Amino acid sequence: MTLHQRQGQRFLPYGANYLDWSDMAELKEVIDHQVLFRYQTEQESMASRLERRVSERLGVAHTLAVHNCTEALRLALISTRPSIGDLVYIPAVTFVAVAGAVLSCGLIPVLVDGDESLALDRTLLPPDAQRVIVAHMEGSVATLPEGVPYLIEDCAQTLGGRFPDGREVGTAGYAGVFSFHHNKVLTSGEGGLVVTGDDRAGATMRCYHDHGSARVPGHYPTWDQDAHYGENFVTSEEVAAVQCQQFRHLDEVLAGLERMYALALAELPGRTDIRPLPRARGDVKVSMRLRCESRELRDAAVAALTAEGIAHWTLGKYLLPEHPVLTGRRSLYADGFPWNHAPEGPLRLSRDGFARTRDLLDRTLCLPLSPELPEAEQAAAVKTIRRVLETV
Ligand SMILES: *Cc1c(COP(=O)(O)O)cnc(C)c1O
Repeated sequence: MTLHQRQGQRFLPYGANYLDWSDMAELKEVIDHQVLFRYQTEQESMASRLERRVSERLGVAHTLAVHNCTEALRLALISTRPSIGDLVYIPAVTFVAVAGAVLSCGLIPVLVDGDESLALDRTLLPPDAQRVIVAHMEGSVATLPEGVPYLIEDCAQTLGGRFPDGREVGTAGYAGVFSFHHNKVLTSGEGGLVVTGDDRAGATMRCYHDHGSARVPGHYPTWDQDAHYGENFVTSEEVAAVQCQQFRHLDEVLAGLERMYALALAELPGRTDIRPLPRARGDVKVSMRLRCESRELRDAAVAALTAEGIAHWTLGKYLLPEHPVLTGRRSLYADGFPWNHAPEGPLRLSRDGFARTRDLLDRTLCLPLSPELPEAEQAAAVKTIRRVLETV
């Protein structure tokens, strides 16, 4: 398969899959064991193995596997024991799942404008903010606000990223969430993780994710007298097996991204009107992000790349202040829940009505980096991109 065919198949060509029958030992183990439900066994399940490996790697006390990162966000939020209508400060630039998770918990999202790097601008937060979600977007490690009791890091796009002090993203606040969706750093199609260093939060999330039960693995669930209701977010063994396989390749994926990123930086056309956005050492190099001098130039580059069949993407879709889910304030509930609990006035914090953020997004273009390609193919792909960008 050529690079372009592979990229077309993976419509947002982030990260790698490394899926190969010769490398699916964990999946074979699960099938051989004939148990697909993680709590069917008293031995360490595949899901528990995954959680143990992630905890070890990230240096965090508790990891819980769930079906996707949106569920992980909901679990983290619910475990803070909020009241209906409490405010959650979220980035103005992120995937809509963040807003959906907040709303579906009966909480109200307040959109906080981006800083220069488009991450949530912590200087805009009120000093008494209780709940804040910061998203590390496109592999970029954001700077976190201090003194927020319930700070949730959304690391869906940045598994393996590190803060300047060496800590892993997802481990610095109250909780961190990760995604194994098809377009993320590692994938099992769908999949999510929530991590926390807080013992109580870890126990609350594990209980809620299994019908509010105090289950002992290998047994039917039991409920204490003080049990609260929960839901079913329990993952499956075959999914955990693919996630274990993927997780084994994390360092290879990160190294492959670094290698192609360096190649791409060296090969970019020497023009001042299309510049690479700097990436920090601890960022996951999921893409080469370019900032164009004007929206017209960005659109011309998009057209040229499209004509050549080269995968690329733009970030306007992440501008939540313009997202219909937020502008419409609609709900499937007859009473409009939870919007009917929202305070009067606009639910947004921005100095300029998001004008600067909109302008930055309009001039940004992302190009895929393909970590699993051999170096020669990476270099060839980068040369093709350079040639196309020189024509616009
Ligand atoms: C993908 C993504 C999510 C949602 O992840 P799912 O696993 O698809 O639910 C949440 N936040 C961000 C920033 C994402 O990119």
